[in-house]
Amino acid sequence: MMHGQKEHDPQNGRRPILRRATPVAVLTGAGVSAESGVPTFRGQGGLWRSYRAEDLATPQAFRRDPELVWQWYGWRRGLVGACRPNAAHVALAEMEQALDDFVLVTQNVDGLHRLAGSRRVLELHGNIWRLRCTRECRPPWEDRRDPLPEIPPRCPACGALARPDVVWFGEALPGAVLAEAMDASRRCELMLVVGTSALVQPAASLPLLALDNGAHLVEINPQATPLSHLAGEVLREPAAQALPRWWAAHGLSA
Ligand code: NAD
Ligand code: ZN
Repeated sequence: MMHGQKEHDPQNGRRPILRRATPVAVLTGAGVSAESGVPTFRGQGGLWRSYRAEDLATPQAFRRDPELVWQWYGWRRGLVGACRPNAAHVALAEMEQALDDFVLVTQNVDGLHRLAGSRRVLELHGNIWRLRCTRECRPPWEDRRDPLPEIPPRCPACGALARPDVVWFGEALPGAVLAEAMDASRRCELMLVVGTSALVQPAASLPLLALDNGAHLVEINPQATPLSHLAGEVLREPAAQALPRWWAAHGLSA
């Protein structure tokens, strides 16, 4: 048997028991929002004017051409603004209600988890509906206007350029949020990894912390990832189908 692999087949009904008190952590990525209509970076529809996300979501790109980067964020805000949470987001919001120790960690910046009713969401990569002053003269603020009246937008307090309050490639994650996510990963007995290619660090290493602690890992993703061979249970299906079914099968849903 490979490291971390458990003799466990989701089809045969021998699931680990899930109780109200079982500590559960969930890590979501772009795939959980795919069925809401939000394109993943690496999937179809992820391209904008033939730019790759890796060439726009960087501090260098913003220094070179803030207007171009903001046009891209304007396009993404427009896309996401027209999308609604799907059944996977809703199942995760229900899990938060039903379980005593439940932590939802997301790499997504779209805000759909909160819209579905999740109250506590650890957003590792920020949120596209929040803006931040490049001079850091004040805390980040929410601005849901679409389209934004001015591109690139400016800080209302000091007039400096504003940037999206998201984590770009090459930037550090918000330390306190990452620390909480690591803590939850170490503590959990069960971790669901939903719709992430598990390529972007350090998010991709959270499931490894869970495994080190003996947690049962469930992967929900139509495609194989570097984590698949470590998961005790793999559901090769879209999240909006697999996640509500998985949750209902554990009998704790209302
Ligand atoms: P990714 O684009 O690298 O990978 C998406 C993963 O989702 C793939 O493994 C794919 O097989 C899977 N997937 C596709 N459709 C799915 C479905 N219906 N159900 C379940 N899984 C599905 O995304 P990533 O791993 O999150 O990393 C990319 C980075 O870009 C992250 O920071 C991510 O949050 C960010 N991003 C965010 C959004 C968003 O906020 N919605 C969208 C694009 C990218
Ligand atoms: Zn300012």
